[in-house]
Amino acid sequence: MTKIHIGIDIGGTSIKIGFIDQVGQIIHKWEIPTRKEESGIHIVQDIRDSIVEKQIALSIDDNQFVGIGVGAPGFIDHKRGTVHAVNIGWTDYQLKQCVQEKFNLPVWIENDANMAVLGENWRGAGNGEENVMLITLGTGVGGGVIANGELLRGESGAASEIGHVTVERNGVTCNCGREGCLETIASATGMVRQAKETIDKHPQSHMAQFYRKNKAISVKDLFSLAEQGEQLSQQIIDNTTNVLATAIQNMATLINPSRILIGGGVSNAGEALLKPLRDKFIAKALPRISKPCELKSAELGNDAGIIGAAYVVLVHSK
Ligand code: ZN
Repeated sequence: MTKIHIGIDIGGTSIKIGFIDQVGQIIHKWEIPTRKEESGIHIVQDIRDSIVEKQIALSIDDNQFVGIGVGAPGFIDHKRGTVHAVNIGWTDYQLKQCVQEKFNLPVWIENDANMAVLGENWRGAGNGEENVMLITLGTGVGGGVIANGELLRGESGAASEIGHVTVERNGVTCNCGREGCLETIASATGMVRQAKETIDKHPQSHMAQFYRKNKAISVKDLFSLAEQGEQLSQQIIDNTTNVLATAIQNMATLINPSRILIGGGVSNAGEALLKPLRDKFIAKALPRISKPCELKSAELGNDAGIIGAAYVVLVHSK
């Protein structure tokens, strides 16, 4: 009978759930919406109902389930099993205990970016390395680090939050309340903000015309405009990769990784993003840092979180 590790990745809009075997193959995966009302008190029950429904539909025996790994956004307090995730409405929420009460199974919780780096290192672009950094460029900028073979969590679960390293004095205010965080520039939100500022400054430009015609501009648009030779979008990409490469090289100097994996929606740009980023990283970093290090795209996309969560179950239940 196949042993099943349940991997759960709780996000701001949807919850991804996967039944995953002992070699990291997804047996079944699906998504449910994240009900954030009433400070997110329905989320765990929704997960429970959905898993029971799938278990019946797929004729899975209770004793096939090994345990549950849950990735959640925000800060995880491992000593207390609590989560602080403002965008879901959880303030010191007893996530581990709540999941344990609903399922008669062992439960492990972890920050979502940490789950993603574990997933990538197990079944994706990491290849079981001892020292890996994952940087996700999405709505925000997230980071997960494996150092000396161990997940880096820090004293209060805030280690490797690369999105909140300061890259600009007197910069734009970040979601965290501070100014000039990397996230204000290198996230999808940050790149679109740069585009809108540029459009305001250059209302006659091709980019401004594009924006007026389409009534929106996305990161994908910026990369395709740059590919067509449009200079202002190229400048935004140059600025973003420059700032990002500096932040990455600073972090890499602390970690000395063999792989730096770039994930999240912005990384869909592929080599148009990765090549300048790699070139600038190599130019900025100490050769002893850049030489043994490969900077490449993450491979698992949205599945990284559930696969990493299943991996946590696997390693702890052995
Ligand atoms: Zn911040």
